[in-house]
Amino acid sequence: MESYALKIVNGSLVIDMNKMTEDYSRSYGYDGNPSLYDTGDLVGTEPFIIIELSEGHVKKIMDEYENGGECGWCGEVKKELRSPHLLDFVQGEKMCRDCWEMDRETYKGSLGEDIGPFDE
Ligand SMILES: [Zn+2]
Repeated sequence: MESYALKIVNGSLVIDMNKMTEDYSRSYGYDGNPSLYDTGDLVGTEPFIIIELSEGHVKKIMDEYENGGECGWCGEVKKELRSPHLLDFVQGEKMCRDCWEMDRETYKGSLGEDIGPFDE
């Protein structure tokens, strides 16, 4: 078990994952989604409570950071993202499940094209 600080940042409970982006400007703060906070906001906030996380929990959270992030379409931080479909392809951007499902319905309706399920 390892100790992590649970903090309140902008009114949300956030686990400070003790990890920063390469340029140190943003810090990994898990708030139910794999979010990044301004390092000043997160690191500068006093812990609300210290919690213990097992290696399995930490791995699960880091996997969400690995597979998730900010959706290039809705801009929300999501746990899982994938490359966009070819009908709305933007190089370097990733799409969330909600946007994918919405597009899937739209393109089925308007073009009669099925982009397929989110899960490949
Ligand atoms: Zn989205």
